Formats: sequence, structure tokens, C-alpha cells
Amino acid sequence: MSSRSRDHLRRTIGFRLALWYSAFFIVGSLLLFALTYFLVAASLRQQDRDGIRARLQELAARYQTGGIGGLKRELALEPTLGRAAPFFVRVADPRDVTVFVELPDVRTRFDVRPLEYAPLPGAGSFIRLPARDDDAALEIASLRLPDGFVLQVGKSTEDRDRFLDRLLSIVAGVTVPVILVGVLGGAFLAARALRPIRHLIHTVGTIGSGAMDARVPVRHTGDELDELSMLFNAMLGRIAALIEGMRGALDTVAHDLRTPVARIRGVAEVALRDEQGLDACRDALADCVEEADHLRTMLNTLMDISEAETGALKLHREPVKVSSLVEDVLDLYRDVAEAKEIALSTAAPDALWWSVDRTRMRQVLANLLDNAIKYTPPGGRVHFAAAGADRAVTVTVKDTGIGMAPDELPHIWDRLYRGDRSRSQRGLGLGLSLVRAIVRAHGGDVQVKSAIGLGSAFTVSLPAASARI
Ligand code: ADP
Repeated sequence: MSSRSRDHLRRTIGFRLALWYSAFFIVGSLLLFALTYFLVAASLRQQDRDGIRARLQELAARYQTGGIGGLKRELALEPTLGRAAPFFVRVADPRDVTVFVELPDVRTRFDVRPLEYAPLPGAGSFIRLPARDDDAALEIASLRLPDGFVLQVGKSTEDRDRFLDRLLSIVAGVTVPVILVGVLGGAFLAARALRPIRHLIHTVGTIGSGAMDARVPVRHTGDELDELSMLFNAMLGRIAALIEGMRGALDTVAHDLRTPVARIRGVAEVALRDEQGLDACRDALADCVEEADHLRTMLNTLMDISEAETGALKLHREPVKVSSLVEDVLDLYRDVAEAKEIALSTAAPDALWWSVDRTRMRQVLANLLDNAIKYTPPGGRVHFAAAGADRAVTVTVKDTGIGMAPDELPHIWDRLYRGDRSRSQRGLGLGLSLVRAIVRAHGGDVQVKSAIGLGSAFTVSLPAASARI
């Protein structure tokens, strides 16, 4: 492995995660082993010392009732009792001269002479005599008897040491596999935990090289990384839809701009070429201005739709009384409806409120009412009504106009879409796209119901707001 790839590996989260996990696992296990060893050692020592003390008390009682003879008789019985670990016993006179020592083996392995001049330890303390040629020690408890003699009972730590040595070698033997498990476990866990991240990196890399349809595999485990993958996929979906929408819009815009631009050019060319009077030139210029206005309106509306769809449209939200909004819009179209002999009616209760950008929502309702009047033949009716349902307030614009076919309905929200039967009417095919973009930017939605020849009903639904205090 080159030093660059080694450096890269060292900087990866996976490597650091594996390292930390292994370190914690290994240190934790070793601490546990050490603790177990020391607790076992301490408990065995305590057990030995309790045994020594108990034997000291027993023999002291025997000495008091039977003197040194009674003590010897008691000790002579010891082998018949079958005790596993015989005790060392010493009796010394008040000048600390040994008068009796039991257990000859002790004499060869331990030098017991220092006992003759060693000061008597305090009650509960032990004298430790190291063995002549190994690590064992003789632990001795002492008791001064009422007649001034000293009784000492002891036991070699040899058995205990042997057991602890065995325990130590077992622990040492287990340590190697523990380190191995720690390292392998760390590497496995890090690799497993970071797999979704690696998928994410792979997907981003694939998208970077142009494959917009690449998605992160979702494992459906419900964990945070799964949630991240799903959100990432949803985001990619939205971006793809937006790009698709923009591409479509650009195509349609390019296509739709061609006609008015060609018209402006044609009018200007004719005015330039022919020997025409000033009036004809003025008319040509007026035509050009009209077409340019048309183009400007179209471009402005397209910009508004894009901004509303991408969330870039600034909304100045305020509590707005729905009935006053309905009345405002109605006032704008009363004359147009009257001129077309269309009966306008309204029903808007007073207590309904929205928290919206007043100008933008007026634009929405005006577009819907404009369409309703535009696509309703003379003698028809348009009903403009507001209603409160659950936590939403709806406004419906219902007409008795030409209506739409079911297969037409999914397309009416597309930019620059115009129904075949609507081409005789003025319009850009942008009104409903703008309506939906603005309503959605406010957190609401707009629905349509329609039938050919019977009319259409557009319903805007937005969350209800509380009234201004
Ligand atoms: P425009 O009205 O400028 O053509 P819109 O985006 O407002 O564009 O509407 C798109 C299409 O939806 C219209 O061309 C028309 O075919 C259809 N449409 C909209 N509103 C109505 C309505 N109230 N009745 C019948 N058709 C409608």
C-alpha cells in the first residue's frame, strides 16, 4: 500500500471508528480480566487468613484447658481429621524462645528463626515469612496467651499462589483472542455501519458523472442512515422533477417565443421596406409595442411561476379576511361579467381567515374568476364561494361554462398549455400554472372538477388562520 493510500485510510471515518471500537473493547476486556484477577486473589487471601485465625482460636482454647500436652494431643489428631492444608504451629515462652514447632516441612522451606526475635504484631495483623527458594510465603497470626507464652499459627501461600498463577496463564491465553476479536469486530462494525454512507458517496459520484436517475439503496431498517438515504432519494427525485420541468418549460418557452418575435420582426420589416406613410409606420410601431408587452407579461409570469415553485418567491403573509378578498376580486370582474351577461353570485361567511400574501392570493382568485367568465358562454352563471372545513378554508369558483374532458385535466396545470377549444380566447396558458405554484407556495393546494358542457369548479384550499386581534 502506497503512503498516500495509507494516509487516506487513516483519515477515513471507518478506520477511526474501527480503531476506537477496538481500543475500547480491548482496554475494557483487559480491565475486566485484571479486576477479576485481583478480586479472586483478595478473596482467596481473606479465606486463608480467616482459616488461620479460626485455627489459632481453637488451639488457644485447647492450650488453656490442657496446656502444651493438650495442644500436642490435638495436633496429633490432625492427620486423622484429613485436613487438606496442615497449619504451621509454634509455641514460644515469654522470652520468645521456641518451645514447640509443628510441621517439619516448614522448617526446611522457611527459615523460622526470625520469629524468635520478631516483634509480636498487633491483633489481627500477620507476619509474612518469605520462603528460602521460591515466591511462597508463610502467613502467621500470633496470640499472647494468659500465661505469657505466645501461640503462632500459620499457613503457606503456596497453594494459593499456584492457583493464581494458573489463573494468570489462562487470562494471558485469552488475551490474544480478545485482541483479535476486538480488531476484527471493530473493522466489521465500522464497515457495516458505514455501508449506507459508502452507497451515498457512490450515488453522488454516479450523479456527478451524469446519471441523474441513480438512487441510494434503502435498507428499510428505520435507522438514521436509512432516513438520510430516503431523504436524499426524495431530494434527488425533486431535483430531477424540477430539471425535467425546467427543460420542458424552456422548450415550450422557446417554441412560444418564436411566434411573437417573428411577428414583431415581420411588422417592422414591412414598415421599413414599403414606402408607407407616417400613419402606417405608427400602426406598425403600435403593433410592435403590443407584441413586446405580450412577451414581457409572458416572461414575467414564467419568472413568477419558477420563483413560486422553487420557494424563491417572497410572500408577505398577513391575516386576510377571505370574504374581503372575494369581494375585492368580484368588484374587478363585475363589469366584465355584466357585459358578457353572466350572472355572478357569491357566498362568503365573514369569520374565515387565511394567513397569506394578499396581492398574490388576489392574483390567484382573479385568475380563476377570469377563466370562469372567459370560458362560460353568455347567459351562464359563475358562483364564487368561501367555506370553512376542518382546519382549512376553501374558496371555490364554479361556472356553467364549456367544461373540460377528463384527459385534458392533468395538463391544464402545465406551463403554456392551452385547451384546443380555448384557442379562440385571449390567454397565454400560464394562468393555472401560476395559480397552483402560488397556492402551493402558501402550503395549500388547488383541485378541479369539470365535465364537458356542464362547467368547471376550481377549489383553492389553504390552512385556516386566526383573526387579527
Ligand atoms: P389560458 O386561460 O390563458 O389558456 P390557463 O392556464 O388559465 O391558460 O388555463 C389553461 C387551460 O385550462 C385553458 O386553456 C382552458 O383550456 C382550460 N381552462 C381553464 N379554466 C377553465 C374553465 N373555467 N373552464 C374550462 N376550461 C378551463
